[in-house]
Amino acid sequence: MRDVVVVGGGPAGSRSAALLARNADVVVLEEHERSGIPMQCAGLITDDVIKLSGVKPDVLSTLFGAEVVFPDGTALTVCSEEPKARAVDRADLDSKMADAAMSAGAEYVFGTKLLSHKATDSVSLETTSGDFEARMVVGADGHTSTVSAGMSGCRPGEYLRGIQADVLMRPEHEDLFRIHLGSRYAPGFFTWEIPCGDFVRVGLCTSWEVGPPMPFLKRLLGDLGVQDRVVGINSGKIPLNGKGRIVADRAMLVGDAACQVKPVSGGGLFPGLTAAAILANVAGRALADDDLSAKRLSEYSQRCDREFGSELRRGYSLRRMFVRLSDEDLDAAGRYASRDDVRSVLDRIDIDHPSTVVRDLVRHPAAIASAFPLIMRCLV
Ligand SMILES: Cc1cc2nc3c(=O)[nH]c(=O)nc-3n(C[C@H](O)[C@H](O)[C@H](O)COP(=O)(O)OP(=O)(O)OC[C@H]3O[C@@H](n4cnc5c(N)ncnc54)[C@H](O)[C@@H]3O)c2cc1C
Repeated sequence: MRDVVVVGGGPAGSRSAALLARNADVVVLEEHERSGIPMQCAGLITDDVIKLSGVKPDVLSTLFGAEVVFPDGTALTVCSEEPKARAVDRADLDSKMADAAMSAGAEYVFGTKLLSHKATDSVSLETTSGDFEARMVVGADGHTSTVSAGMSGCRPGEYLRGIQADVLMRPEHEDLFRIHLGSRYAPGFFTWEIPCGDFVRVGLCTSWEVGPPMPFLKRLLGDLGVQDRVVGINSGKIPLNGKGRIVADRAMLVGDAACQVKPVSGGGLFPGLTAAAILANVAGRALADDDLSAKRLSEYSQRCDREFGSELRRGYSLRRMFVRLSDEDLDAAGRYASRDDVRSVLDRIDIDHPSTVVRDLVRHPAAIASAFPLIMRCLV
């Protein structure tokens, strides 16, 4: 019997496996033939996330800020002197993280899909390559998590739909990414144009209710005049506002399987990798004490909540306000954001904790007062 079966060889699974394998016998089941495919990520992460990953991914560009374009065409540049984020090759990140977990002692079984699991005195797992037996299971199997379904675990309250194209073009700025707001391209979210060396990653997310995002991407590529320079397209879903438990007897969820995603930006790597380190610490001690009860493992839920729970909750409240804004409201927000006192706050935005921008704005009473009509508009 294995100590731990980790289901899913994405970033959350590989980081959990790498840390757990220091003291436990770990096997990772990954349904694809290798980690990192299919790639469904813009790859925009901070240096803190790179540290949390434990590896050095290929960096395609270094970004110091963003040009935000409002529905009326007004553009506002928000940037700082320090790098805000790196665009990385996400397939390379996932594959290096899997290699690091293997070097730490974890075994990977590729091309193997979990079908179901059952926890009693141990965990029995039925897979496309036969049965496995383990003392515990970690569900790092993304937003369609089979482990979560088997333990009646966390489910998203809302999904965003994302789509992006790699486009052979030179960006206007090598060190800024561009965001469009408004219903023309990205109702309920925003677009991104990320310089990645010899191509630009052009993508967007939309609210679920507006249907498939492809027509919006086609419109954006058409307006940019680059529809004939697309060299690859991928799409995926982003789970937000998770409800339900992330631990059960002999089972824990991490990453998208636990809906650990920032609602303001759709970024899942910071919370997912932060959670993986907590998971490995809690599970490692629980394995040593041979107490894998939900009660014992609940320390993981509590520590995740302390670490980033308020960011996710605050971020989701901001999202609910954001989706109420019309294009005219967004234009008004653009005029508001161009005030010097507001710009100075936005320039310092922390991408891993984006909702703290509100806390920082509250320190500027005049800025908040002038936003009052907009705030009221968000609340009704
Ligand atoms: C369009 C788009 C752009 C994004 N851009 C960013 C970004 O710029 N920055 C950022 O931080 N986040 C971004 N995200 C979110 C980010 O990609 C996810 O939060 C992140 O991939 C979650 O990692 P994970 O390891 O939890 O899950 P995943 O990366 O989804 O990995 C889950 C793994 O489990 C495997 N699996 C699933 N089911 C089974 C099964 N039954 N048996 C065996 N294996 C299974 C899958 O094959 C997969 O390899 C983006 C998402 C989308 C859709």
